[in-house]
Amino acid sequence: MIATQLSSQDLMNLEDKYGAHNYHPLPVVLAKGEGVFVWDIEGERYYDFLSAYSAVNQGHCHPRIVNALKEQAEQLTLTSRAFYNDKLGPFEKYAAEYFDYDRVLAMNSGVEAVETAMKLCKKWGYKVKGIPRYEAKILFATGNFHGRTQAIISASMDPDATKDYGPYLPGIEVIPYNNLEALKEVLKDPHVAGFIVEPIQGEAGVFVPDEGYLEGVAKLCKEANVLFIADEVQTGIARTGRLLACDYYDIKPDILILGKALSGGVFPVSAVLADDEVMLTIKPGEHGSTFGGNPLACAVATAALEVIKDERLAENANHLGKIFRDRMNRLVEKSDLVASVRGKGLLNAIIINDSEESKTAWNICVALKGNGLLAKPTHGNIIRFAPPLVMTEEQLHECCDIIERTIERFEG
Ligand code: PLP
Repeated sequence: MIATQLSSQDLMNLEDKYGAHNYHPLPVVLAKGEGVFVWDIEGERYYDFLSAYSAVNQGHCHPRIVNALKEQAEQLTLTSRAFYNDKLGPFEKYAAEYFDYDRVLAMNSGVEAVETAMKLCKKWGYKVKGIPRYEAKILFATGNFHGRTQAIISASMDPDATKDYGPYLPGIEVIPYNNLEALKEVLKDPHVAGFIVEPIQGEAGVFVPDEGYLEGVAKLCKEANVLFIADEVQTGIARTGRLLACDYYDIKPDILILGKALSGGVFPVSAVLADDEVMLTIKPGEHGSTFGGNPLACAVATAALEVIKDERLAENANHLGKIFRDRMNRLVEKSDLVASVRGKGLLNAIIINDSEESKTAWNICVALKGNGLLAKPTHGNIIRFAPPLVMTEEQLHECCDIIERTIERFEG
């Protein structure tokens, strides 16, 4: 038992009584993490198949990333951008070269990076493309998820995210995902400045677009002089079996948005990357954040990116992802409960054969927890499976056994 005076139930009650009710967690109280595992306060061990929504790609408490945090924390944590610091420049150089862009703008949360990309997009639209003042439009796709701020929910189609939060931000147009004809049509409007899209829609339920879609998006945007902006906050940093999901298609977004695993889940770090033409449209005083680009974040993010390369985590995600989908496809053949599996690398989901309103997927996740594996439904009947990328093949097979056994018992 991990030392604490309070039971799991006590701790859940505290959150319930004193916290906002903006989440609906699975009933487990975690107190420790290492690699692919987390432990609850009673000392029960679980495989983590959520990885903090793909923030912990490098595994929980990766020693190299935690050491970077500890060492930097003893030197300097925050200066604000009012002064230079000795970690930001080297991090910007490292990340710019790593992802092949001229420049990096460091922020904190994923949604802040998305907002930064929206501002850059508009600024570029006015200063470079020549869109008349305040006429710029940004396109989004149906089913999108880019975070929770007032601006970004203005692009959301999810009633939970939007209901009672109007009025919404103008200048946003939502077009069907995975539909090049719809994009082509809307790109006839000369006031469109950019299209922000997830290469694979994670929160919506791991929707992988058709072959040719993303290449088509990149090409159509280029022809229309519109910025192609990829939100790789969830798909990036090796999760889908390549460094970026866009790498599968050999396309380079005009603006790349990263977050989550940019710090290995150790510290909130996000970033927007772009070349000079876009990034240099923003001038001093026009955008920023007290914590963005702080030395602690830079040290952590540098270590997190090094780990991805040195431990060949994209290759591992690619290899294990194929095994996972093979095993789940065999389960689909035997089981009436699992309709299909989809995904890329280690970002996958199974679709449960039940209505979207049913509690079946939730109940399966509760049963999986009882068998030592933590996962959560994304929407209704879809369960996302996204373990840390440091998993071994043997561990993955053990996890597939747990999932199979749980589903079989559940059916029984
Ligand atoms: N963009 C995508 C694609 C995401 O999946 C998320 C979070 O799940 C975000 C943006 C928002 O990131 P954050 O929760 O760090 O603000």
